[in-house]
Amino acid sequence: MAFESLSDKLQGVFKKLKGKGVLTEADINDAMREVKLALLEADVNFKVVKDFVAAVKEKSLGSDVLESLTPGQQVIKIVNDELVSLMGGANSKLTYSPRGFTVLLMVGLQGTGKTTTCGKLANYLKKNGKKPMLCACDIYRPAAIDQLEVVGKNVDVPVFTMRECREPEVIAQHALKEAELRGYDVLIVDTAGRLQIDEALMDELVRVKKAIKPHEILLVVDAMTGQDAVNAATGFDETLGIDGVIMTKMDGDARGGAALSVKQVTGKPIKFIGMGEKFDALEPFHPERMASRILG
Ligand code: GDP
Repeated sequence: MAFESLSDKLQGVFKKLKGKGVLTEADINDAMREVKLALLEADVNFKVVKDFVAAVKEKSLGSDVLESLTPGQQVIKIVNDELVSLMGGANSKLTYSPRGFTVLLMVGLQGTGKTTTCGKLANYLKKNGKKPMLCACDIYRPAAIDQLEVVGKNVDVPVFTMRECREPEVIAQHALKEAELRGYDVLIVDTAGRLQIDEALMDELVRVKKAIKPHEILLVVDAMTGQDAVNAATGFDETLGIDGVIMTKMDGDARGGAALSVKQVTGKPIKFIGMGEKFDALEPFHPERMASRILG
């Protein structure tokens, strides 16, 4: 599970704080220095760390905390609350179209887990009473279309394909019509990934966006890639505009920096996390739960 090392370090810092009956300003400063190091080692964005530590310090140094009966506990609570707010506050849900037919555009770099996540999301939606359909829009790699078809079979969701078509926006438009006609209520559009953000990819995604006007554009990023994931989110958001992030591979030993930085850096929330390779390994992201997991 991600965050293990960060979690160990923070718990170590707080154990020391809790052990003291009285806290001085110097104790808080020492603790915050350690928190800062732990966050930097977890690969959290530098500015995010600076702001985080400054906010915790300011709140902790008030007399209501230092003169309370359990100052250590109070500081831990402040850190907890700041972590929750760092990760986006209350959890941000997927928004469905009020008209009853929702279009989700899935974007992301190659290898992040985009196609697998399309299947997981379809599975999740089905379990929540929706009738999803998948659409394969990768015109470069026939293997990617094959992969989505396998994914669709696994979660028992139909996959729309147009293998001979070279225009993803046309494929997506046809899928949209087909899905509505056949009574589905969510269309999940899988798109081509690249090794890095390039103009051709962005142009293509912008065309698809214009053609199908998705209710949500979800960017899939890999937690294991740390700040590269955050940079990808910034890049996709600036050119295409995204509504949220799905962070995969949170079951691995990611240091956690991406998950802790992305909302603050891009302003866009994490909506789901991937917790494994299986199709049921997708969870809505709850900042409160994640903060409790980190602080133990
Ligand atoms: P794409 O190129 O972005 O479409 O990536 P794929 O969907 O093909 O996934 C790449 C690899 O990541 C596959 O081996 C997936 O099983 C794996 N993967 C995807 N999501 C997760 C996750 O949440 N946890 C783990 N451990 N592996 C994942």
